[in-house]
Amino acid sequence: MSDKPRKFKGGVHPNDSKALSAAKAVQDAPLLDSYNVIVHQNIGAPPEVIVKKGDTVKKGDLLAKASGFVSVPLHAPTSGTVSALEKCPGPTCISVPSITITADGEDAWGDCMEPISDWQNADPAALKQRVADAGIVGMGGAGFPSHVKLSPNKPIDTLILNGAECEPYLTADHRLMLEEAEKVVLGAAILARILGLNGATIGVENNKPDAIEELNKIAGKYNVKVQGLRVNYPQGAEKQLIYALTGREVPIGGLPMDAGCVVQNVASAAAVTDAVINGRPLIERITTVTGEPLVNPGNWRFRLGTPISKALELAGGIKTQPAKLLLGGPMMGFAQNSLDVTVMKNTSGILLIPVETASQYTSEPCIRCGRCVEVCPMDILPATISQAVENERFDWSAQLNVMACIECGSCSYVCPSHRPLNQHFKRAKAEIAAARRKEQKK
Ligand code: SF4
Ligand code: SF4
Repeated sequence: MSDKPRKFKGGVHPNDSKALSAAKAVQDAPLLDSYNVIVHQNIGAPPEVIVKKGDTVKKGDLLAKASGFVSVPLHAPTSGTVSALEKCPGPTCISVPSITITADGEDAWGDCMEPISDWQNADPAALKQRVADAGIVGMGGAGFPSHVKLSPNKPIDTLILNGAECEPYLTADHRLMLEEAEKVVLGAAILARILGLNGATIGVENNKPDAIEELNKIAGKYNVKVQGLRVNYPQGAEKQLIYALTGREVPIGGLPMDAGCVVQNVASAAAVTDAVINGRPLIERITTVTGEPLVNPGNWRFRLGTPISKALELAGGIKTQPAKLLLGGPMMGFAQNSLDVTVMKNTSGILLIPVETASQYTSEPCIRCGRCVEVCPMDILPATISQAVENERFDWSAQLNVMACIECGSCSYVCPSHRPLNQHFKRAKAEIAAARRKEQKK
């Protein structure tokens, strides 16, 4: 591991707008009368619901059990009664199954899981099972089950914690590292034990010097190294992070394990500490609620199932009319059409974009300026792929490696013709995946 991080190719420097919430300490959101918990909160198979209407539950009780290896369980955010099993607005603007818990106000924990305080001597397999049982996923936005990444089928020599938080506006990971540094570092050490490694590295963008300082105060105790990173979006993308810290390139179509690495988000690592040391499943997370239209942007610890409308209320409501509501950051987040969608395990941000910065442009023909090629961190050809998609030549876009696109949005950001490049690539990937599924069925 180099002491000087390498620069990955490309990337962009959007105005980060982090000052709106970076200095705001995490506040615990008050207990609500009810929570609407979306069932499918992980990449992979949705968990299988095991409660029915009328059941009483305690905080941390199982609501749904994992339904396969790439799946995680879901737990109750508070104690109360299962008052409905219905559909509610989901993060992709499609209705999704959810479980409504009407709170009893006691917020009493159930039996949950036994703490494993002597984690240094615990069986790594038992620790990994605990990560799975606690329902932990990639909390930076990916939602990929954490225990799956801890079961690589290739040799691993490096564990990296992703504390880059390179998306503009988001400061939830920053506040977590600053306020709960020990939890993050201890989580790194537990993850390292699971992988049979003697340490880990936490990568943090250099625009969070206070978080780097806090982490460094305790990192040595757990043989964890903290590495400052160049501020450049998308520094927190797995492949770019691995390259910056190790100089290794993940092959196209490959995974971090192909470069001997496992990458976990810092909030996921903190959730591992909660699961192992405190015996607590993942029922809450820190989320940034921000944007210029808000009266009081900040960071809150929300229970899963908290409606976005409540989050905006806590942030003081709006002072100017927003143009857009996003879940996540402005580069990779998803636009929402309902305030009833609720906080999930991977909700890193709730963002209101002001009218001035969300102007609607008309897409113009490509002028072949080459800017998109210059900024693409994956070294593919956005302009040509976009042309292939416009011509519905998805086979051609596949040959041009559209599947390697990490959907970072850097190309769309710099395109002077305002071409919907990222949307083209999402469409191409979906079409290619559908064609492959069809082929497999033959
Ligand atoms: S083509 Fe994909 S990876 Fe390259 S800049 Fe555009 S969105 Fe990012
Ligand atoms: S940045 Fe836009 S206009 Fe320039 S080459 Fe790429 S797609 Fe064409």
